Amino acid sequence: MDVKIKFLGAAKSVTGSKYLLQVDDKKILVDCGMFQGQKELRLRNWDKLPIDPQQIDIVVITHAHIDHTGYLPRLVKDGFSGKIICTAATEDLMQIMLLDAAKLQEEEALFVAKKGYSKHEDPKPLFNTDDAKLVMHLIESHSSNSEFNLLPNVSVTFHNAGHILGASIVELKVTGKEQQKKIVFSGDLGRYNDPIMYDPEVIPEADILLTESTYGDRLNPMTDVENQLAKIVNETYANEGVLVIPAFAVGRTQSLIYYMHQLMESKRIPSLPIFVDSPMAISVTNLYEKHGGLHKIKVTESRNELISIFDSPNIHFCNTSESSRALNEMKRPAIIISASGMVTGGRILHHLYHRLKNENDTLLFAGYQAEGSRGRHILDGDKTVKIFGEELTVRCHVREVHGLSAHADQSELLRWLSNFKKAPKTTFIVHGEKATAIAFSKTIQQKLGWNTVIPEYLQSFELFSGI
Ligand SMILES: [Zn+2]
Repeated sequence: MDVKIKFLGAAKSVTGSKYLLQVDDKKILVDCGMFQGQKELRLRNWDKLPIDPQQIDIVVITHAHIDHTGYLPRLVKDGFSGKIICTAATEDLMQIMLLDAAKLQEEEALFVAKKGYSKHEDPKPLFNTDDAKLVMHLIESHSSNSEFNLLPNVSVTFHNAGHILGASIVELKVTGKEQQKKIVFSGDLGRYNDPIMYDPEVIPEADILLTESTYGDRLNPMTDVENQLAKIVNETYANEGVLVIPAFAVGRTQSLIYYMHQLMESKRIPSLPIFVDSPMAISVTNLYEKHGGLHKIKVTESRNELISIFDSPNIHFCNTSESSRALNEMKRPAIIISASGMVTGGRILHHLYHRLKNENDTLLFAGYQAEGSRGRHILDGDKTVKIFGEELTVRCHVREVHGLSAHADQSELLRWLSNFKKAPKTTFIVHGEKATAIAFSKTIQQKLGWNTVIPEYLQSFELFSGI
């Protein structure tokens, strides 16, 4: 039996995760992400896949983030009709996130058509809502920590990766005539000692390992998050202003609510109303209750911390656009959490439109702002920013909180790697920018003495032959 791998994404980049595994004549795609960020990367979404989607037998998904799932609707539109395997929480999140991604695609195509700056007569979305709905029909969910057969000689086990609800490390076993080989895909790894998510599970062995390296070159301590937040909230309160926080709907919004709740309980910040203004964040928050076993917040018959945190009298979910717009008039101190996290779209835009000019208000960035994004410009101190076609002056306070990332930092990645009892034959460094992947590869070689490879986009490797 022969096993090969081809890197169709997340090779010297953090997006577009797609790994094509070929076991004899069977083809398994692990993750099916969309390329995001710089234009050069985004254009790859429009390239023809180097494999006909009809030829792929099965897809396995590590977790629901769009850079791991966002190409699925396109894959299905282009002829893939096999099963898509993931955990139940990933399935629930995908239902919300893929439909949202489809809506964004449709809106963007309309916008481009209206502005007329497309070379195409009729700019089309990469996929639409119907394509996203078709994906959901192909999903088969499995529970974690139970091995099941993907193909007659290939089995899979999902292990908890922390990171976001349902996120998994994928352990794949290939059974040949004489030998069994194990290929482990780290997926995206979460943090150790996160207040909400569990630590990534220990995997003791792998013949081949693919490890993410998003923060492989830096330390991102989370010890000080509460102090940073307390200082910023108290400062905003003293200014009698409103604190506006752009945040990703999945994970980040819930972490922020959790921290604010802790700070209010311990009276380190005043008891302020928190408005969660993102329909997607509201749906995702509900999934924390459905999948109570996947996080540390207690949900039992006698004790429901989830309700006390996410349904406390301070929390207000803005379900309608009227309730969202009503916030624009608000003058008393309050906290508004809204998406998108990088201020690229969503309801956060109208909050910024109304708040940027107010000297009393504070805009707080709680996550990574990509190079060239609107959020990055504001954070870098640009005095004006364009929203809804209008050039606005930034007069509000601009702050940043560090340590809220859902990704393991370098020390945590190394901690997870050092659980392997012996070095894998090859460790592929994926899901990291080029410079980061190089730095992390060197660190692994120095600290663990492992054989590492940083694959190129579209590069293939023979993993085993004649097993
Ligand atoms: Zn992720």
